[in-house]
Amino acid sequence: MAITGAAELLATWEAGLAEAPTGRALLLHRTARPDVDTATLPVLPVGEREADLFALRRALFGERMQVRLACSACGEDMEFDLDAGEFARSLAGQGTPGDSVVRVRQDGWDVEFRLPGVADLTAAARAADPRTALLARCLVSAVRDGTPVGAGDLPVPVQRRIAEAVEAADPGADVTLTIACPECGDATRAELDIASYLWTELDAWARDLLLDVHLLATSYGWSEPEILALSPLRRRYYLELCADV
Ligand SMILES: [Zn+2]
Repeated sequence: MAITGAAELLATWEAGLAEAPTGRALLLHRTARPDVDTATLPVLPVGEREADLFALRRALFGERMQVRLACSACGEDMEFDLDAGEFARSLAGQGTPGDSVVRVRQDGWDVEFRLPGVADLTAAARAADPRTALLARCLVSAVRDGTPVGAGDLPVPVQRRIAEAVEAADPGADVTLTIACPECGDATRAELDIASYLWTELDAWARDLLLDVHLLATSYGWSEPEILALSPLRRRYYLELCADV
């Protein structure tokens, strides 16, 4: 993955400030996948997006991710490291790229179902019955004994089989951590939302960078584009020189 320049990344952060979490996630995904057009990104399977975001995290801020979590049993504050590269590889490896439709055949039913993307989950969450709405959005075709059937007529066992098939085909859609507490030994399960994790990091990075620009502009009279064009190493070096004066 090509690492985006500082100026471009700063523009992404600025655009994201006005956005809700879903909009920020989309901006990050666009940074991770410049090869895919913006309209297609929200319909990519959710697990594929998660893998893309882990790969972006690795390219921008490195492999090691620090995560903090409170034990669900005793409340102990737990801190541990995760490997972003490992997540990117394992999530990307499990899916079936390019093949985002699963097929379920059971008891005379023949159902084709598209792996949900972020756009599907967002739209379904707004509906009165999210489960049914998601079924209706992603159902490609449903046939019973040769007769086409609508999403509303799928029996529960078939719905369950679809959910299992989707989970098997797109396991990265739900990144769940299970962490054993060093104090009480209980296991805490928590979802890792890589989009919001990465946004928090980008936000801190951008604010630090703006401070650097301010300090260097004040000391040397350089413009913002000039300062952003410096490599991080040179920026750091000039800042150290400023501090020494
Ligand atoms: Zn505990």
